[in-house]
Amino acid sequence: MKNQIYLARNKTVYKGNLHLHTTWSDGSLPAAETVQVFKEKGYHFICISDHDVYSRTDEFNTDHFITIPGMERGGLNPVPDKDPGYHFGVLDDPTAQPVQPRFQHLERFPVPIPWEGDQSPQVLIDEMIAHGNLVIFNHPEWHLTRFEDMVNYDGFFAVEIYNHATEWSTVSSYGAAYWDHALQNGKRVYGIAADDSHGHDRNWAFPEYGGGWVQVQSEALTPHDIVTSLKAGSFYSSTGPEIYDLRVEDGQLIIECSPCKFIMFKAFPLRGPFVGNYQNGEPLTVASMPVEPEMQYIRVECIDFDGNVAWSNPVFVADLLEGDE
Ligand SMILES: [Zn+2]
Ligand SMILES: [Zn+2]
Repeated sequence: MKNQIYLARNKTVYKGNLHLHTTWSDGSLPAAETVQVFKEKGYHFICISDHDVYSRTDEFNTDHFITIPGMERGGLNPVPDKDPGYHFGVLDDPTAQPVQPRFQHLERFPVPIPWEGDQSPQVLIDEMIAHGNLVIFNHPEWHLTRFEDMVNYDGFFAVEIYNHATEWSTVSSYGAAYWDHALQNGKRVYGIAADDSHGHDRNWAFPEYGGGWVQVQSEALTPHDIVTSLKAGSFYSSTGPEIYDLRVEDGQLIIECSPCKFIMFKAFPLRGPFVGNYQNGEPLTVASMPVEPEMQYIRVECIDFDGNVAWSNPVFVADLLEGDE
């Protein structure tokens, strides 16, 4: 079994939010003010993902903060005139060689999208990819997405496993069960935590901005390098805790994180949840689990004393066995 480093403690990490709204759709703040909110919160990058309108805002990019072009595409529902049904995060992939032209700044797309049958979401995903984008399966729990959709549809690179706005509004924000369903059926997809902030009321006690994010290990703060790292899974998602290091060494998956109450490994199919030693209420900052060749994937959740979570991306065990007898 190979040794492999997934997150390295000495590498630079950039904090980002890949899902948010501005006045270009139903958000309450203009793009420039939204950028300011996230800068003040210490973010390094965002994707302005307004509903059915694409944004390219290079004018906000500096050495310390960038915007990645994108949108949220949806309005696709088997029940006529009812929204929402399917929403997909759409993120410009500068490493792609698209067969169709890239979308332009403030290019608008019609909604609702006519439902032509169960292939309709796939047609939409394929269209977004053809124009040089990555696709994220947004807030499956909020939409009560059918679990089999995780298997039947292809091409999305990630599932939104935490959506802060739907926690804020309707307490239905955790999509990790959908993610596991995709993974258990052989999909190589990553998990993304995001805000989906609209900012309808900034005075709510539970702040809508800054609730879920990704931390990306990247060579540089450029759209090219950030997206390259996203595609490689060189990131983790969080609502609070930090993951400093994740690696396989001598057959052990080892994680280091900020002080947590639980460090939980989910290994499929051999072992269910396995929790690192939790003794006398002492915070955990490191835990490990043996990797078995029969495992399909292992992922780790670090849960702090307030219930906030950091999710690692999956370790795909087959990759570690390449070249083994
Ligand atoms: Zn949505
Ligand atoms: Zn949204």
